Amino acid sequence: MTAEIICVGTEILLGNIVNTNAAYLSERLAALGISVFFETTVGDNPERLEQVVHQGLERSDILILSGGLGPTKDDLTKEIAARACGQKLKEDKEAMRRLKEYFSSTRLPMTENNLKQAMVPENCTVLYNENGTAPGMVIHEERGKEVILLPGPPSELIPMFHHQVEPILQKLRPGVLFSKVIKIDCMGESSVETEILDLIEKQSNPTVAPYAKLGEVHLRVTANADTMEEAKELVKPMVMELRRRFGNKIYTEEEDITLEEVLVESLAEKKYTIAAAESCTGGMFTGRLVNVPGASDVLNESFITYSNEAKMKYLGVKEETLNTVGAVSEETAVQMAEGAAKAADADVGVGITGLAGPGGATEDKKPGLVYIGVCVHGKTKVKKYQLKGDRQKVRQVTVSRAMTMVRL
Ligand code: ATP
Ligand code: MG
Repeated sequence: MTAEIICVGTEILLGNIVNTNAAYLSERLAALGISVFFETTVGDNPERLEQVVHQGLERSDILILSGGLGPTKDDLTKEIAARACGQKLKEDKEAMRRLKEYFSSTRLPMTENNLKQAMVPENCTVLYNENGTAPGMVIHEERGKEVILLPGPPSELIPMFHHQVEPILQKLRPGVLFSKVIKIDCMGESSVETEILDLIEKQSNPTVAPYAKLGEVHLRVTANADTMEEAKELVKPMVMELRRRFGNKIYTEEEDITLEEVLVESLAEKKYTIAAAESCTGGMFTGRLVNVPGASDVLNESFITYSNEAKMKYLGVKEETLNTVGAVSEETAVQMAEGAAKAADADVGVGITGLAGPGGATEDKKPGLVYIGVCVHGKTKVKKYQLKGDRQKVRQVTVSRAMTMVRL
C-alpha cells in the first residue's frame, strides 16, 4: 500500500511558512509501515490542484491532502478532491450542528462561506475537528482509493491525524503494526546509521529506521503481523540487538519520555540537587529542566552568567583564566561548574560556555565550539564539542549534550 502527500498552499511555495505538515505526515506514515513515494506542494490554484489529485489517484492508494479546508474563497481542496473522485457535495448534519454550535457560542456571525464547511462529498467518513471549525474527511473513491483531507493548521491536523486517521489506516493495512522507539542522546544520525547499516540492509520485518531529532537520534523498530502478540514478538530480537550495540547510549525506550525527564528522575532517585551556570545557552538548560513537573525536587537555583564579570562575581571564575585562555575554554567550563555547585550548595554543578555564532570566530575558536563541565561532589569532568548548525541549533544541542553528560 502506497501513500502520497499533497500540501496545498501558495504560502508554502512562497517560502512564507515551513511545510511541517509534510514532515509530520511522512514520519507517521513511515511508522505505520506505509510507503510514501511522492510528496507534492501545490498553490491555491484550482487547475493545478486538480491535476495533482488526478495524478495521485493514478499512482497511489492513499492521498493525504493538507490545507485549504477553511471557509475562505481560496480554500478549495474539498471541492476539487470531490470532483476528482466523481462525487457531489452534500450537507453533513453533524458538521452543521457543530458549526452552528460554534458560532452561537462565540457569538460570531455565521456567513454563507462558513456554511460551506458543513458540506462533504457523498461517500466519505467525516473527521470532526475538535480544535477548529473545518472538518476533515476520508473520501472513499470508487476504485477503493482513499483521499484524506486535513485542515492546514498543525494544531488541528496533528490531533486529527493521530486520533482519527491512524486507526483508519491501521485497519486498511493487512494485519497489525507494532512499533517501538529507542532514543539515543549522544551520537549523531550518521554514526548511529553506520552502526546499524547491516541491520538496515537485510531488514524486512521488522524494519528499523533512524530519525534525527535535535541533539538526539530515535530508532524506530516496526513489525507487521496478524496479531499484536506476534508483532511484539517480531520486534523483540531487533530491540535486544540494538540494546547490545548501543548500551547506555540509549536514554529511554518510552515514546513520551524526554531526556530532561530521565535526568530529573535519575537525580531525584539519588536525592541529588543540580545547579547550572549557563553562558551561551542563556538559561535554556535550566528551562528544559523546569519543563519537567517535579523539577523542584532537584533544582533550587541556576546562574546565567553571560559576561566575564558575571562569571567572576557569581561563580568565582578566575580573572587570570578569562584573560589567558578565555571564557570559551575548558578551564572556564570547569570553574563555572564547580562555582555553580558551590554557590548553590548543589550535588551537581554544570558549566556551559561556548561560541553560539555566527560571529565571534577567532583563529582557533570557531562558532559551534562549546565546553561543558560537570562537577559531582567535587569531581569534575569536562568535554569539548564542535557543533554544527545555526545559533539556535548550537544552543539547543549544547543543552542536550550537557544533559547527557550529567546522565552518564
Ligand atoms: P483555515 O481554516 O485556518 O483557513 P485551512 O485548512 O484552509 O485552514 P490553510 O488555509 O491552507 O488551511 O492554512 C492555514 C494555516 O495553517 C496556514 O496559514 C499555516 O499557518 C498553516 N499551514 C497550512 N499548511 C501547512 C503546512 N503544510 N505546514 C505547516 N503549517 C501549515
Ligand atoms: Mg484557509
